Amino acid sequence: MLSAYKRLFPALVFAALVFAPVAVFSSRIVSREISFFYALAWAVFAGGVAFASFYTGRVSFFRRIFFSVSALAFLVHFKFNLFSKVFDSSCFKDTPYCHIAIAPSFLNYLYLQYLALMSGGWAVWGPLSLVFVWLFATLIIGRAWCSWACFYGGIDDGLSALPKKALLKTEKWGFKLRDFPAALLIFLLLVSFANMLPVYCLWLCPFKMTGSFLDTDYALIRNIQYGLMVLALAVLFLGPLLTKKRTFCSFLCPFGAWQAFWGKLNPFRISVNALKCTGCQACVEACPMYAIESEPGSKAEISSYCNLCGECLKACAAGGINYSVLGFRMPYITEGFGKLLNPESFLVFSALTLGATFASLWAPAAMGDIVKLIR
Ligand code: SF4
Ligand code: SF4
Repeated sequence: MLSAYKRLFPALVFAALVFAPVAVFSSRIVSREISFFYALAWAVFAGGVAFASFYTGRVSFFRRIFFSVSALAFLVHFKFNLFSKVFDSSCFKDTPYCHIAIAPSFLNYLYLQYLALMSGGWAVWGPLSLVFVWLFATLIIGRAWCSWACFYGGIDDGLSALPKKALLKTEKWGFKLRDFPAALLIFLLLVSFANMLPVYCLWLCPFKMTGSFLDTDYALIRNIQYGLMVLALAVLFLGPLLTKKRTFCSFLCPFGAWQAFWGKLNPFRISVNALKCTGCQACVEACPMYAIESEPGSKAEISSYCNLCGECLKACAAGGINYSVLGFRMPYITEGFGKLLNPESFLVFSALTLGATFASLWAPAAMGDIVKLIR
């Protein structure tokens, strides 16, 4: 009975806290063509992940399962033709409703919203509403968006977990290239603004597989765009299998660099306890984001590219890494209802609820697709 009180009941409460909002939002988000039961099933899955991670304490393990399932559902539902379906009917056809496109096209949004205001063309406020959604998400979970919600991140993360060992050791040059997405972001912001085009979507997005994002006038340009798409797909799908790192998120995603900056608005952090850290570097190898800087023998330091995935926590045998709020170390309660007040519990609740709600845009529909296929 004591064990149930200390472990089972708090875990059940935690699961219910995640399940309830996901069930409400998910059932509102799914379209009328999809049965309410798929939304409910998705919320049960999110609640199950919450229960398992709280009960066992294996947060990063169950986070990865949730994140990979969400990404897989994305691939199943959109069957690689998402963009032509969604954006052909958009009022703002050239700039897609995708969170990754917010960052490199931000100046375009600002300018066009300004024009919309001047002309009274309120219809084009749609993209800006996505910016508000992004800002809301950033304030709640910050950089954890890249480890709990993003569909690209889920593909990269899930694949990086498959190999037992990295075939290519990339830590040394990986750290040197780590600022490349920030440079890419600045370049894309300026070029997109100068051309008034979503340049990232046209040239780099690995899912621009439909004609709507390709140049239809010039065969040479179209072929170059296809070539870059194949390269980006390789970085997204092959890179993690060879390196055990999230190569797309680390090197090609402008949103990751954007979020490394804006994510500082959010108070959740990963902190190293310098008193416990032995400088063993196990966390450096475990971090899929090249986000831990450490010379052999010196203490580990977490960079702003950390997206709070939690992989380093389980890698650190000395117990020297924790979730924290604004970097302050707090006493961790490991049992009973008090565990609900740990920074880790707050982060998992916020990130899982938000990630599962966002995935309601495609995950319940993907279940419907699979059922239809089986029938
Ligand atoms: S795994 Fe732990 S002890 Fe080893 S370097 Fe990282 S924080 Fe320090
Ligand atoms: S530092 Fe830790 S939590 Fe941050 S990205 Fe790396 S493994 Fe994940």
